[in-house]
Amino acid sequence: MHPKDCIFCKVIDGVIPSTRIYEDEGFICIRDIHPQAKVHLLVIPKAPIASLEEVFPERGENKAALLGQLFDVAAKIARQQGLLPGGFRSVINTGSLGGQTVFHLHLHILGGEPLRGSFG
Ligand SMILES: [Zn+2]
Repeated sequence: MHPKDCIFCKVIDGVIPSTRIYEDEGFICIRDIHPQAKVHLLVIPKAPIASLEEVFPERGENKAALLGQLFDVAAKIARQQGLLPGGFRSVINTGSLGGQTVFHLHLHILGGEPLRGSFG
């Protein structure tokens, strides 16, 4: 469940000030306050969706289109930030066991240096 007192909603609403790397109708992009790489950005949909689990619910309509848009925006930002064509990592943590700490869907963009660890 998306929390009532959501820190990312406050960032989106401007209640918490932030430097926006990117913004359009549906998304914002900010820097992660605890960077795990030289470049560590968060792409956050403005829609109050808790996690990937809510994007693809067990019942009812999914929000696959939103996820497509999320990656479209991520690629656009990666190009703007000079992460492409070299490359970057995109990560979505889902749930507390998945390492999710803010329960408002967001995509991590990591790069700007060779990244350690590989799933490839
Ligand atoms: Zn939120």
